[in-house]
Amino acid sequence: MPQMSVAIVGAGIAGLTFAAALRRAGVDVHVYEQAPRLFEVGAGVQLAPNATRLLHRLGLGDRLRAVAVAPQAIEMRRWDDGTLLQRTPLGDLCLLRFGAPYYTVHRADLHRSLLSLVPRERVHLAARCDAVTQSADAARLTMGDGTTVVADLVVGADGIHSVAREHLASDRPQYSGQTIYRGLVPAERVPYLLAEPRVQLWYGPDQHCVCYPVSSGRQVSFGATVTAPDWREESWSARGSVRDLAPVYTGWHEDVTRLIDAAETVSRWALHDRESLDRFGSGRVAVIGDAAHPMLPFRAQGANQAIEDAVALARCLLEEGADGLGAALRRYSRIRLSRTSRIQRESRDSVRSFHLADGDAQRRRDTAARTSSGLDRHQWLFGYDAERAVAGRAAAVQNNG
Ligand SMILES: Cc1cc2nc3c(=O)[nH]c(=O)nc-3n(C[C@H](O)[C@H](O)[C@H](O)COP(=O)(O)OP(=O)(O)OC[C@H]3O[C@@H](n4cnc5c(N)ncnc54)[C@H](O)[C@@H]3O)c2cc1C
Repeated sequence: MPQMSVAIVGAGIAGLTFAAALRRAGVDVHVYEQAPRLFEVGAGVQLAPNATRLLHRLGLGDRLRAVAVAPQAIEMRRWDDGTLLQRTPLGDLCLLRFGAPYYTVHRADLHRSLLSLVPRERVHLAARCDAVTQSADAARLTMGDGTTVVADLVVGADGIHSVAREHLASDRPQYSGQTIYRGLVPAERVPYLLAEPRVQLWYGPDQHCVCYPVSSGRQVSFGATVTAPDWREESWSARGSVRDLAPVYTGWHEDVTRLIDAAETVSRWALHDRESLDRFGSGRVAVIGDAAHPMLPFRAQGANQAIEDAVALARCLLEEGADGLGAALRRYSRIRLSRTSRIQRESRDSVRSFHLADGDAQRRRDTAARTSSGLDRHQWLFGYDAERAVAGRAAAVQNNG
């Protein structure tokens, strides 16, 4: 396997995790990133135990502990009076049960941590890939400057607008009808949110808001989702304005309105979605992360699944060896498809429940939330080990064979 060459398109969370997993095994890997410099949007990301256990194995335990926050709970509340609807305990309980922590982290901190695992000369910046082609014995990237990169395998980690995905489907991203304003607020402006580090969500008619501390507790990241079926920005992200956002949340609980008022800048994003694929690889091209299965952010799992994909694909390639590329990609697809499709579906469905108008359906939702607050219902999601799933599949095949 170390003799195989791999070209990765995209140095996001998926691409860097995959590069790190392959480098650990001594594989010849290069990452091509269109951005002239590496940075991540000013926002947070929630990392659940299904991803943190894999990041720890890659050697990022100490680094993450130094920059992340371990929230004690996820709390769901009513939009107007802040009534607590559900509290899911995290903290030590989560660590004990799943053997890995739940973290909230600034995206730039996660990105920098992943980058520390990949030699800098392996990450090529200002390297936009315009096309991916393949033949029986090689895969090729045609770059924006006209040059060509040849490798044994190309992995598209190039996000929702993936070029590599065109090998697997001819679909296009669909606007979901939801937009999200994201912002960061210095912790000292919202001390009332930090008495206990928590992920807090407020549900209301047609919109919801989520917030949590990041940067070792120095900042609070928030995302305020707003249903906007007719929003038609040419770009899919734009600089938003606190002046536009604040009136949309008029009448909401003061913990929300004070948080929004405390933000200096916000960005506004149109949330897009794509259908599930029926495979994640073909010939010498595979896709991981949002390129494979973009998901609406309402289960907070897109980055977590990108990390799972990266580790699972690396493991499939290492186990099948350089001559088993086809088998490795088939195995990767088999293992990942049902799990990621389920999370994609649940992420899509969540929005209806989050955004219910007050009434019977909302009361049923709240009653159900109050009676299901433990970690049990997260077992399938947080308890999953993507590396073991690959090894388990091999063991099952051997036993059956
Ligand atoms: C508001 C919001 C909140 C979210 N919250 C969470 C959360 O709490 N937890 C969670 O797990 N997930 C969350 N997600 C989802 C998560 O952000 C994504 O799933 C994750 O970032 C996907 O990573 P990726 O590396 O696959 O893609 P991306 O992050 O999109 O990275 C793709 C990279 O490829 C590069 N690229 C693209 N095209 C080319 C090209 N042609 N040539 C070269 N380079 C290229 C891009 O510049 C980029 O660097 C959230 C998403 C949103 C929108």
